[in-house]
Amino acid sequence: MNIEKLMQSLEAKHPGENEYLQAVHEVLMTIEDVYNAHPEFEQAKIAERLVEPDRIITFKVPWVDDRGDVQVNLGYRIQFNNAIGPYKGGLRFHPSVNLSILKFLGFEQIFKNALTTLPMGGGKGGSDFNPKGKSDAEVMRFCQAFMTELWQYIGPETDVPAGDIGVGGREIGYMYGMYRKLARQNTGVLTGKNLEFGGSLIRPEATGFGGLYFVKQMLETAGTSLKGKTIAISGFGNVAWGAATKATELGAKVVSISGPDGYIYDEDGISGEKIDYLLELRATCNDIVSPYAEKFGAKYIPNRRPWELKVDIALPCATQNELDKNDAKLLIENGVICVGEISNMGCTPEAIDLLLKHKIMYGPGKAVNAGGVATSGLEMTQNAMHLSWTAPEVDAKLHQIMSEIHTQCVRYGRENDGYINYMKGANVAGFLKVAKAMMAQGII
Ligand code: NAP
Repeated sequence: MNIEKLMQSLEAKHPGENEYLQAVHEVLMTIEDVYNAHPEFEQAKIAERLVEPDRIITFKVPWVDDRGDVQVNLGYRIQFNNAIGPYKGGLRFHPSVNLSILKFLGFEQIFKNALTTLPMGGGKGGSDFNPKGKSDAEVMRFCQAFMTELWQYIGPETDVPAGDIGVGGREIGYMYGMYRKLARQNTGVLTGKNLEFGGSLIRPEATGFGGLYFVKQMLETAGTSLKGKTIAISGFGNVAWGAATKATELGAKVVSISGPDGYIYDEDGISGEKIDYLLELRATCNDIVSPYAEKFGAKYIPNRRPWELKVDIALPCATQNELDKNDAKLLIENGVICVGEISNMGCTPEAIDLLLKHKIMYGPGKAVNAGGVATSGLEMTQNAMHLSWTAPEVDAKLHQIMSEIHTQCVRYGRENDGYINYMKGANVAGFLKVAKAMMAQGII
């Protein structure tokens, strides 16, 4: 495989799609050896076929706001690769959403879903709609308008969207309602549903829980544990609260959460009633960071990121490229031992290079946060069987899946000196599964 040539051709075809090109480059660099060891992959142009989505659906989403004004947003669904199962991946509603971001997320999703051991292909979608500051009625009208177009392209055996930034249980509920009305079917077409209409126990917290199960195994493999460790977390959304809850349960102390305008440092630890309070704030107001600082006497540090704190573990839980080279340098100087991305592509390539160079444990998003989509896969299974598993049953399966992902990363990522390159391990394991499926199914 000639990576340089392939990247040049992609850059020429998709200029300015930086996040997408970044994600593709990372995967190609880490699978190069294993790819070249299989000349049949090159002959079948597996890399060239894998880096382009099967199709991209774009549509306009007109809706009416509370003042009676018409608003028009853009909607997307990227159906990236379905070699091992129906397209599967979240919907992101955020003003920054564009093709590059959704293509990077969809591309990552192919390998993440392959790692889960479940039969799910990769996809992603969303809109530049900003749910922040919108009334409940506006969010409902937007979700209904979005689904009025999307419904014809998705289905329980075709493409199964879920949540992501800006899309939680409320948005999934509104979209599911419109799908059900248009398709006249109650099916597992979306995951992250409420329990009353086919949702799975543990799904809301699964990404954060799974992340901590993975980090726990990373530490144990290195001969240490989560007990007594301090953790910096960024963001406080769907993912971060599950991560904070499980980290505390496993004996660690979470000392930060953040928003786009700064972070709070709570040296007593963010747990129990403090997490409940944050969840309340999240449901009722836009700004959760400073009211928390006031109520619990924690420090609010505006316009900064929590990676300047002296902690043992850093868990990015907000958005892509939120931890850069400078942040990695500070973390290393402050003695960090592990960085686990629970957000997708949370670290920049330069930050990752530095972490690997210093042999810091680094878990890539596609492995660490795979518990979310894995539990979505379990929700699909329950929907197909028309039954629900108990919380301990789902949690045990999630635990098992995260453990298998860890095993695959170690198998393909262990280097000669014993250091485990989890990024390489995750990319190679995910890639091999998809590539073998593509080979077996011919040129299509
Ligand atoms: P979310 O509920 O919308 O939360 C995102 C959090 O990050 C919020 O606290 C948000 O703050 C903050 N944030 C967003 N953009 C930011 C920025 N540019 N700078 C600093 N903070 C920012 O989203 P989520 O579902 O937790 O997703 C977080 C990350 O996890 C994303 O990378 C997502 O792709 C990944 N992920 C999610 C799932 C899942 O199950 N939801 C699964 C796998 C991976 P404000 O609310 O104040 O803007």
